[in-house]
Amino acid sequence: MSDQFDVIVIGGGPAGYVAAIRCAQLGMNTACVDAWKNDSGQESLGGTCLNVGCIPSKALLESSAWYAKAQHEFANHGIGVKTIKLDVTAMQARKDQVVKDLTQGIKALFAANKVNFFHGSGKLLANKQVEVTKGKKSETISAKHIILATGSSPVNIPVAPLTEDKIVDSSGALSFTEVPKKLGIIGAGVIGLELGSVWNRLGAEVVVLEANDGFLAMADEQLAKESLRHYKKQGLDIRLGAKVDGATVKAGKVDVSYQDGKGQQSLKVDKLVVAVGRKPNTKDICDESLGLSIDERGFVQVDDYCKTNLPDVYAIGDIVRGPMLAHKGSEEGVMVAERLAGQKVQVDYDNVPSVIYTEPELAWVGKTEQELKQAGIEYKSGSFPFAASGRARAAGDTTGMIKVLTDAKTDRILGVHMLGAHVSEMIAQGVIARAMMASSEDLALTMFAHPTLSEALHEAALAVSGHAIHIAGRKK
Ligand code: NAD
Repeated sequence: MSDQFDVIVIGGGPAGYVAAIRCAQLGMNTACVDAWKNDSGQESLGGTCLNVGCIPSKALLESSAWYAKAQHEFANHGIGVKTIKLDVTAMQARKDQVVKDLTQGIKALFAANKVNFFHGSGKLLANKQVEVTKGKKSETISAKHIILATGSSPVNIPVAPLTEDKIVDSSGALSFTEVPKKLGIIGAGVIGLELGSVWNRLGAEVVVLEANDGFLAMADEQLAKESLRHYKKQGLDIRLGAKVDGATVKAGKVDVSYQDGKGQQSLKVDKLVVAVGRKPNTKDICDESLGLSIDERGFVQVDDYCKTNLPDVYAIGDIVRGPMLAHKGSEEGVMVAERLAGQKVQVDYDNVPSVIYTEPELAWVGKTEQELKQAGIEYKSGSFPFAASGRARAAGDTTGMIKVLTDAKTDRILGVHMLGAHVSEMIAQGVIARAMMASSEDLALTMFAHPTLSEALHEAALAVSGHAIHIAGRKK
């Protein structure tokens, strides 16, 4: 039987849909299979990121930030507002509309690029055939190449089993119809902190229980510590070294029990969010007899180019090694598509930016100071606080700093770490600098517009060699 398609992509999230579009752009006859259904039971491309992840959380973070600003900051700017009213229903409706527009946008992009979309659940069979199942119906399609991009789902823990609306995962916490009086969150990871910020800004008393003694271990220690100080100041009650070992619903409340350094503790909350990580969706994506290599944690094993152990079968995004980040999955999708078209491209896994969209935002790329110390690499550090930035002062938010880490011998930039307002946008400058193998001197010799927050990066680069202009008492 001849192959119907050149490529079938299973999964329409940021890894899969990007792979499908790039394959089609390169002239391949492409199909994408995706099973996602929205609350109305309709197809909704974009996977977790667009439907219940990055996009809706950013929509609510934005709305809640406006609300908090109206309450706490408008007066500083001489703006008086008599009454500030919160309409959670309207806020959620706006978020839903943002999601709807973007998911429909992907459908339009599929149509424009002639990607053939199949709504249903895809399973890889022998001979690169894919069974697409929707309800009781199923059909089989085939291709020369298969790309698996089935994403990830929240981890559930037996000690806190999910309920209809009291103990929920991240998706549930994005859909609350009113502000819980007291909200518990298990896990001070990216999801716990972002969702905690949303509901804290909207008036909930938020307690975050984190099993680890350390905080945001993957971030630069100095900035992580500083961010914790700010989160606590905002009212987030973050309890480190607090391992949850039970949660039950009683009389409309959730009784949470946890162990900390002092022993067994308990907490009563109105709602509890379980945000303890995500797991790859690799169950049932492939007929077992094919022998697709999957490790003990459920990740599909791939090489640097996302090739699996099966010929012509690739895997990308959250189901393979590396951080579970939309942009990392998208880049893998582009790489696989371009390699199928004969191009010699690769993903620079050392240059993947991370962002936590709290206030202040935390963003970084490359090595942290503790990683450099641990690896015994000699490095130089230059930092600049936003308190010394004219633009930050004018904006009325001087929280945080930028830190540049370079190789002591070559001056090449090894890491860029940012804490402050809008650093999710500014980190791209660090990523570009690293992609161009820039040194701190390259950044120092670059002209930055004044007054901008980005000048703090310029000054941090200047500070590496001790001659930042707007910090007193440095070298000549
Ligand atoms: P995470 O792994 O970042 O954090 C989960 C935390 O829960 C850990 O710190 C862990 O120690 C803690 N934990 C686990 N069991 C516990 C228990 N019983 N009691 C108390 N604490 C416990 O996971 P996440 O925040 O759920 O995020 C999942 C993935 O999604 C991550 O890979 C993340 O990078 C990605 N994500 C990224 C963004 C972003 O880029 N802004 C946003 C959301 C999610």
